[in-house]
Amino acid sequence: MELKGIGLEEEIFKISKKSEKSMKMEFKGVSLKESDFKEKKILSLENKPNLKYAWDTGVAIGRFLAELKQGRLIGRKCCKCRRIMIPPRMFCEVCFKPNDEWIYLKDKGTVNTFSICYVSWDMQKLKEPQIPAVIEIEGASKMMGILHLLGEVEPKEVKIGMKVKAVWKEIDKREGAITDIKYFKPI
Ligand SMILES: [Zn+2]
Repeated sequence: MELKGIGLEEEIFKISKKSEKSMKMEFKGVSLKESDFKEKKILSLENKPNLKYAWDTGVAIGRFLAELKQGRLIGRKCCKCRRIMIPPRMFCEVCFKPNDEWIYLKDKGTVNTFSICYVSWDMQKLKEPQIPAVIEIEGASKMMGILHLLGEVEPKEVKIGMKVKAVWKEIDKREGAITDIKYFKPI
């Protein structure tokens, strides 16, 4: 093929149209769903590696998780700047010194920001949208909050500044994880 003179752009246009067409034909496919793996609709391999390792949560997060199991939220206070921090840490990054005391906080808070998710991780449409939110915990300093889900609320009802309360798992189902709180609901 000769590409010269006035017909050059036209030829390039023809080539790009042609490759667009062939790409459509070559890359035709379907998206995979999580259920396709579970139901063995596609070829997949399951492997359980025997990997042994320990993850040290550290003093602050270790106590935070242990308290979650008891249905309580705990933070740390810095006596110099008077900030109350959650999730807790043993060092104040503002004063640059170890902080001073543990402090229990209410399992309530205010929605600082939120998002409404209509698709799952594998891009499947969710029947019930998920609403992740940053919740500023009551009693902690401004802008101190945790990321969690909102529940028992219609997406269109969610507002920044909305007051919410934790809904906990039953005590025998808690395992010392942030998921010991099922979600936060409006109050
Ligand atoms: Zn401080």
